[in-house]
Amino acid sequence: MSNHFDVVVIGSGPAGYVAAIRAAQLGLKTACIEKWKNTDGKGVNGGTCLNVGCIPSKALLDSSQKFHETAKDLSVHGISVDSVDIDISAMLERKNKIINQLTGGIAGLFKANGVTALYGTGKLLSGKKVELTDNEGSVSLIDAQNVILASGSLPISIPVAPVDNDLILDSTGALEIEEVPKRLGVIGAGVIGLELGSVWARLGSEVILLEALDDFLAIMDKAIAKESKKIFSKQGLDIRLGARVTGTKINGREVEVTYKTSGGEELSQTFDKLIVCVGRRPYTDGLLAPGCGVDVDERGSVFVNEFCATNVPGVYAVGDLVRGPMLAHKGSEEGVMVAERIAGHKAQMNYDIVPNVIYTHPEVASVGLTEEQVKAGGEPYNVGVFPFSASGRAMAANDTDGLVKIIANADTDRILGCHIVGPSAADLTQQVAIAMEFGSSAEDLGMTVFGHPTLSEAVHEAALAVNGSAIHIANRKRRS
Ligand code: FAD
Ligand code: AMP
Repeated sequence: MSNHFDVVVIGSGPAGYVAAIRAAQLGLKTACIEKWKNTDGKGVNGGTCLNVGCIPSKALLDSSQKFHETAKDLSVHGISVDSVDIDISAMLERKNKIINQLTGGIAGLFKANGVTALYGTGKLLSGKKVELTDNEGSVSLIDAQNVILASGSLPISIPVAPVDNDLILDSTGALEIEEVPKRLGVIGAGVIGLELGSVWARLGSEVILLEALDDFLAIMDKAIAKESKKIFSKQGLDIRLGARVTGTKINGREVEVTYKTSGGEELSQTFDKLIVCVGRRPYTDGLLAPGCGVDVDERGSVFVNEFCATNVPGVYAVGDLVRGPMLAHKGSEEGVMVAERIAGHKAQMNYDIVPNVIYTHPEVASVGLTEEQVKAGGEPYNVGVFPFSASGRAMAANDTDGLVKIIANADTDRILGCHIVGPSAADLTQQVAIAMEFGSSAEDLGMTVFGHPTLSEAVHEAALAVNGSAIHIANRKRRS
């Protein structure tokens, strides 16, 4: 192996592998170092996203949703099913197959693009040197013209609920549960807690989510958070807000959880399994040698500017390791931006338009500013709302929960944000994200022809409603 590269990427999650591929496409001699190992000890690419994050969680969400619909929702269509059963090990096996296919795909893409894949642990030394300790323990030094740090994040652990991945699980352990727990506790009603809680609730668990904050989905648009809570509670998720977990005790095969309510009451609840989903932290363990000179902020993230450059010239950091939402697509776009800038292009990233999705059913998705953020900023705005209960396509699909909300500047009509809870919310929000990227007004979206009958007509109607011209709902024009 050559010991000199134009670009060395540390970490091959969606931020790192995308950066490496783009750098190689642009003619830069690129290597990507990855420490993740399969159960057989072989190095594997893809990071959290492909191995224990986005993809496996969606595989389980899709399997469990199919089970739930077959068991509970078909009679309305006149379909009866005698009995519905689920083989959990087959469900897990399907998920693992998808992971293997996708992670293997990255190795193929590296080969096709000429990225040198290195397996082991990378550490940044001073002078843009990278120390590689391979999976057999041999240490070598690599000279890099540029280094891209992309080591991602890890689940946060809290001392009151020590993870043993038997009874108390983190998000990784929660993807491997082998039988449906009768009583499942989830600490944290954030994105990951809601998704994992939904998987097991659909398969029959009684799920209780304990959330320390008094507000549900505090960073989302308030109207959407309120509607989502109503829908999830109707589905049977028991979401307890203002419930801070203060301790856990293992009794045989049960976990007793104590929590304090915001009113100061001490309560307890017993579960067969407990999942800890209280957020993730940047993964800098062993990454930065003393003296490498890279600054880390007070939250443990590597400090970067808007172009993902660290304070050390030629050293960049992207993805979950740096500020901003911990989302796969945010990291990937940062990876592309950095690779292009290293190659001398004038790339930049639009941090104002990064969609955010919770893959429950219905999905919750948003892009741009919430109404609360627009209000706080003081600009005049109009809001258009359209409920899925008025959508013919949603009715045909028996999927009418939720609404679309679009916010636009009242003077310029430029779209500022879109927030959806409802069927296919992720894909519908993306349509508005594209419109926003092109500087669309609500009127532009209203003048666009939408196919009928589609769920996206709800987006069209919400855009029309911004200016009081929705057709399929009574208009309540509002200027704030
Ligand atoms: P990672 O994916 O964490 O990859 C970092 C890689 O670096 C890892 O493979 C790690 O082994 C490697 N590494 C670390 N240190 C070193 C070192 N010193 N040397 C060599 N290699 C090293 N996001 C979404 O956008 N959509 C979703 O639906 C979604 N669902 C999620 C569901 C779950 C259950 C979880 C846990 C996360 C989910 N996320 C989702 C978040 C998403 O997975 C992360 O935002 C994304 O993986 C971050 O990408 P990254 O490349 O920055 O880091
Ligand atoms: P997210 O950041 O979306 O992954 O959500 C994590 C959630 O966990 C946040 O809403 C936190 O308020 C919540 N949380 C953190 N610590 C506790 C705790 N001890 N008890 C209950 N909820 C917690």
